[in-house]
Amino acid sequence: VARPHVVIVGAGFGGIDCAKELVNEPVDVTIVDRHNFHTFQPLLYQVATAGLSSSDVAYPVRGIFQDATNVRFRTGTVTGVDFDAKRLAMADGTDLSYDTLVLALGATTNWFGVDGAAEHAFPLYGLEDAIRVRNHVITQFEHADSDARLLEGGALTFVVLGGGPTGVETAGALTELFGMVFAKDFRRLDVGAARVVLVEMTDAVLGPFSGRAQRHAREQLQRRGVDVRLGERVTAVGPDSVTLASGEVLPTRTVVWAAGVRANPLADVLDVEQGRGGRIVVTRDLRIPSHPEVFVLGDLAAIEGAGGALLPQVAQVAKQSGKYVGKHIARDRRGRTSGAFRYRDKGTMATIGRNAAVADLPLHIRLTGFVAWVAWLFLHLLYLVGFRNRLSVLVSWGWSYLTWDRGPRLIIEPVDVTSPAQANRPER
Ligand SMILES: Cc1cc2nc3c(=O)[nH]c(=O)nc-3n(C[C@H](O)[C@H](O)[C@H](O)COP(=O)(O)OP(=O)(O)OC[C@H]3O[C@@H](n4cnc5c(N)ncnc54)[C@H](O)[C@@H]3O)c2cc1C
Repeated sequence: VARPHVVIVGAGFGGIDCAKELVNEPVDVTIVDRHNFHTFQPLLYQVATAGLSSSDVAYPVRGIFQDATNVRFRTGTVTGVDFDAKRLAMADGTDLSYDTLVLALGATTNWFGVDGAAEHAFPLYGLEDAIRVRNHVITQFEHADSDARLLEGGALTFVVLGGGPTGVETAGALTELFGMVFAKDFRRLDVGAARVVLVEMTDAVLGPFSGRAQRHAREQLQRRGVDVRLGERVTAVGPDSVTLASGEVLPTRTVVWAAGVRANPLADVLDVEQGRGGRIVVTRDLRIPSHPEVFVLGDLAAIEGAGGALLPQVAQVAKQSGKYVGKHIARDRRGRTSGAFRYRDKGTMATIGRNAAVADLPLHIRLTGFVAWVAWLFLHLLYLVGFRNRLSVLVSWGWSYLTWDRGPRLIIEPVDVTSPAQANRPER
């Protein structure tokens, strides 16, 4: 008897957890991703700031499902879906048929239409982005070391846009990298002149967190030397400067864009209803209303929470919705029904740097400082995919903590197979 073919597009948190639920179930599963690896996005900023190697935060998808005989993997970029023919179109001109489809393509950078942002700012969404930021930041120091006059042109001014967890973590890690490591690496350079400016539109960093966490994060950032600009917006990004809404022009060659996300652009071409941020509107059991054989999960789905507001685009929502959809498909196969998806909020955390983090946990437990930092380290290790990665990250963190050193301060120009335009972007 032919077994139904379940195609999962996207090997992120949601797609992987969905596939795990289908291992050894009476279905054939194909996971498709444009990369042959899963990326642990919450630690990308550590790759960007030379804290971890790229292989620490990524894991080959085939390795995850080595022992799962009913799960296959295929590298490829999906460019469209023919819902009537139940077929995916791939960028290489081939196609792939499915009986049940799971769309778990995640989100991408939202430039919010800011002039020059897409051309000149550095996104931090994938592994290539993180390596590109690392290359660029270290290159600025190398250039300034050769020619100190570059400092006046803002070579060592680093603007981080967006005061959410990614922006806070990146700004904190950059100041630590400069003070802890570059001050020793670049002995002839006045590394103290390097500035990190964090620009946030609202009047607090870490918007969704408690007031206590927000205050703690801001104080810690400022204590570490980050210039925190609240209630400020960037209106234009150029190759050598950013313009703020207040009219101030900051000379800089580095704008790290951590300002927001929107749904994967594939959502825009599917002719389905989209909600806020381009996310695909789904039923309470995470299907597309007009195509019940298609599930959508994680960052790509507009999932309503208990209060009616959309659930945040975070790892826990992706993992729980992935698991739910996997179980749902397995139950369907057995002729059993499934209730609506229910999200269990396990809290949220962000780190500012050495010994400093914030964690808002269920039951109004609020942690700050060292305790929150240890909790943050522990949870990130726990959720990393692959024992080897966990061990390697543990060793890297332990080494950095004890020696005040950092690991891969390497300038390696990546070959970006997904975006030739970006790969050929000249180094500024
Ligand atoms: C820098 C950064 C830091 C973050 N930090 C945190 C954090 O600290 N805590 C937290 O909870 N959340 C964090 N998040 C959010 C969290 O990572 C996401 O919510 C989560 O990854 C969403 O999972 P997903 O499975 O929906 O999508 P993703 O994990 O984004 O996976 C999508 C997958 O789809 C693939 N794909 C995309 N388009 C195509 C295509 N056309 N064809 C084939 N494959 C495709 C991608 O390669 C990717 O593997 C962070 C995100 C970023 C970018």
